[in-house]
Amino acid sequence: MSYDKENIFAKIIRGEIPCDKIYEDDYALSFEDIRPQAPSHALIIPKGEYTDVNDFSANASNEEIVGFNRAIAIVADKLGISEQSGGNGYRLIANAGKDSHQEVPHLHFHLLAGRPLGPMVLAEKIKLK
Ligand code: 5GP
Repeated sequence: MSYDKENIFAKIIRGEIPCDKIYEDDYALSFEDIRPQAPSHALIIPKGEYTDVNDFSANASNEEIVGFNRAIAIVADKLGISEQSGGNGYRLIANAGKDSHQEVPHLHFHLLAGRPLGPMVLAEKIKLK
C-alpha cells in the first residue's frame, strides 16, 4: 500500500487538523484518541510517512525506529500508566491490514489503560485444527 499524504494523521502532523497533544519529539507525536476505548487512550505515531509496522520496520532508519519505540515508554510514563511510573499497566496495540480493522493508513500504536482491559481480543469460538 502506498502512503496517502492526505490521511488524517498526516494532516495532524502537519498541523492542519488539531489534536490533544500528549507528547512530541523529532520522531514521534502522541495525542488523545478522538473515540477513546478506555479511560486513557493515547495514540502514538511516527513523524515519518509509514503505513504500518511492516512498512516502518522495513523502511525506517534505525534512528527513527529507536526514537519511536522510546517515545512509547515516555508517553506511558508521562500518562502515569506504566508500572514504572506508579500506574497499573497498559495495553499496546498496532493494527495492520484489513483483518486487523486498521482505519487510518499511517502507523499508529494505541496505548490503552485506566481499567482492567480484559481478554486481548473478543472471545469467539475458534476452530482449532
Ligand atoms: P485504527 O482502527 O486505524 O487502528 O485506529 C484509528 C484510530 O484513530 C481510532 O481509534 C480513531 O478513533 C482514531 N481517530 C480517527 N480520526 C481521528 C482524529 O481525527 N483525531 C484523533 N485524535 N483520533 C482519530
